[in-house]
Amino acid sequence: MTKALNELTITEAARMLRAGECTVRELYDACVHAAREKNVALNVYLELFEADEMAIAAAQTRIDTEGDAAPLLCGIPLAMKDNILIEGHIASAASKILSNYKATYDATVTKKLKEAGALFIGRTNMDEFAMGSSTENSAFGPVRNPIDPTRVPGGSSGGSAAASAGHLCLGSFGTDTGGSIRQPAAHCGLVGLKPTYGAISRHGLIALGSSLDQAGPLAKSVADAKALFDAVRGPDVLDSTSITDTTYPRKETPKTFRIGVPYHLLEEGLDPDVKENFERTLKELEAEGHTLVEVSLPTSPYALAAYYVIQPAEASTNLARFDGIRYGVSKEGKDLLAGYLASRTEGFGPETKRRILLGTFVLSSGYIDAYYRKADAARQVLREEYDRAFETVDVIASPTTPSPAFKFGEKSDPVSMYLEDIFTVSADLTGMPALSVPMGNVERDGVSLPTGIHFTAPLGADDLLFTIGARVTKETL
Ligand code: GLN
Repeated sequence: MTKALNELTITEAARMLRAGECTVRELYDACVHAAREKNVALNVYLELFEADEMAIAAAQTRIDTEGDAAPLLCGIPLAMKDNILIEGHIASAASKILSNYKATYDATVTKKLKEAGALFIGRTNMDEFAMGSSTENSAFGPVRNPIDPTRVPGGSSGGSAAASAGHLCLGSFGTDTGGSIRQPAAHCGLVGLKPTYGAISRHGLIALGSSLDQAGPLAKSVADAKALFDAVRGPDVLDSTSITDTTYPRKETPKTFRIGVPYHLLEEGLDPDVKENFERTLKELEAEGHTLVEVSLPTSPYALAAYYVIQPAEASTNLARFDGIRYGVSKEGKDLLAGYLASRTEGFGPETKRRILLGTFVLSSGYIDAYYRKADAARQVLREEYDRAFETVDVIASPTTPSPAFKFGEKSDPVSMYLEDIFTVSADLTGMPALSVPMGNVERDGVSLPTGIHFTAPLGADDLLFTIGARVTKETL
């Protein structure tokens, strides 16, 4: 059966465009048509953009004249998370307080994608300011998982994940601060990459946790994730934390991988069938000649606690700039302070307020030593433990999430929601790159739901992840 144009992977579409088997216009229209049709039910896009006719025509001309020399992403319709700036378009981070904020410049990610000839279908729904693991925290209503609309798509990049998984675009970008690309990738059956911290410029991303945030791709295949990453990676003078190819020692891609498995982290809190999928996937890799090595990461059980101190601390600092004066929605008050209070009270949702309270508390004098500095120290130890583990293994594997996509409201207690990030936060805390790849389905209420395997690599070794990821999806890169 031939696939509809919007169901293609980027790699397949790029080939068809070059072979003249479809046009940029047809590809774009197929995605927009699917997006219009499905958005009412799924609430994936906060806005579908007017077609940029000039960009569509320019992409077609470039493919016609340059052929294979044209960038792979030329003419490819993508979706962007609502916290990545696109000049002239609203970027609200799914918050009421930024609902009228129009970006005055392109994020570096956006700029590079435009230069490659990619097209943007729209901006995708997300947890407000990227805080959440289900996309239930959006000020504009939750996103539904295209595989089972009674379930969440994961978060916070749930809109971008649902857009790619539901074929409302060919690929998408999200941001990851504690798992927000990899976790929804797992829940939607996609490949999701959180690159090495600094591999992609943060210029033009609405900041959440500045020492943690990274943009990255959500894609239908490992090859597509690599193509999207390659198009936007690289140093940027506008982001002093961006890295170059020589920042970290180069790691040769091995023929067979030594895969580290922290078995001690898999003892509790993991659904038995998710664990079975994980063990089966590891066995398959072993059968192909890779070796499994038990590794110990003793500080890992504290990573989640450290993250939920550091992240709110940074979030409360970053969100201080939203005061109703400089950006977005402004509420009148009898004096300046009353105006600030009214704007922030009305503009921020409950989870954002919770993080601001937590963050200002752990940073306040008297508590900063007990909480923030302790968490920061744990972060250093965690990184040392990973460094040590990488002396004997090439990548470290775990499930991406303890369970498949859950129902709306199922994790209304914030702590149970925070536990969703147990396997993902360490990569953000250490800055290391990590990839989630589909590892087979499990059944819930008669519906077959995807699960993900998660690989972490040493700093700067993002490319290793694609190689091992492709062994799982059985792709040749
Ligand atoms: N779920 C995590 C949080 O709520 C991670 C969010 C993210 O990666 N942006 O903080």
